[in-house]
Amino acid sequence: MIDFPLSRLEPEAESVYAALGLKPGARPSPRSGELLLRALDSFRRLAEPRGLVLPQTEEEFAAVFHGQGRNETRNPLQRVHPLAARLHLFAFTLGETISAEIERLFAGDFALGAVLDAVASLAADNAGRVAEEWAGSPATASGGSRGAHVAFLYSPGYCGWHISGQEALFAALRPEVIGIRLNASFLMTPLKSISGVLVAGPPAIHRVESVYPFCAQCKSPACRERVSAVPPT
Ligand code: SF4
Repeated sequence: MIDFPLSRLEPEAESVYAALGLKPGARPSPRSGELLLRALDSFRRLAEPRGLVLPQTEEEFAAVFHGQGRNETRNPLQRVHPLAARLHLFAFTLGETISAEIERLFAGDFALGAVLDAVASLAADNAGRVAEEWAGSPATASGGSRGAHVAFLYSPGYCGWHISGQEALFAALRPEVIGIRLNASFLMTPLKSISGVLVAGPPAIHRVESVYPFCAQCKSPACRERVSAVPPT
């Protein structure tokens, strides 16, 4: 099971300021600094990180990935997952309490709410990185799948994997046991939750190029970060 210590989830100040729109190198105002300290204090008090993983055979994941059959015809995960050494369904949440506090602040103290929202979103992203490290670690491997592996998280709603894929993912993983629910639009509650499949394998399998028709609308080209993150083969 994966451990998610708050110290590994808490985002760096620079990342929070960048998420809030501060230009690189610009000095945050004293007011921004004070809001960040208060938001980080709330994060440490209110975050309740919980995660869940479930190993998948290639056949099991192929069925989950097919879901309702609404994926883009050509998509990166369709090419990557059959090459994986290990596959794990994954879900993580920061819990109800911090999400409720963000909603409460947005209604009465918008500035602090916006900073706490950014802190929590970045913390959820960091949880994905912790899970990727876990999935890529030799300690997670068994039998013949040991080797120099790198893992990345692929999620429904991104890269041609239709958001309705959440339905099959939830049916297999059952993240309700850690408090995550799915609504009719396939969005998760609590809001600060993430889900997907951890794909571990030789670094080269993750060399995805942004050549798909839907890449023109992509606002967060994670494939480029991944290419630069994997060691050369
Ligand atoms: S550009 Fe975006 S949608 Fe296209 S492969 Fe990269 S991450 Fe996926």
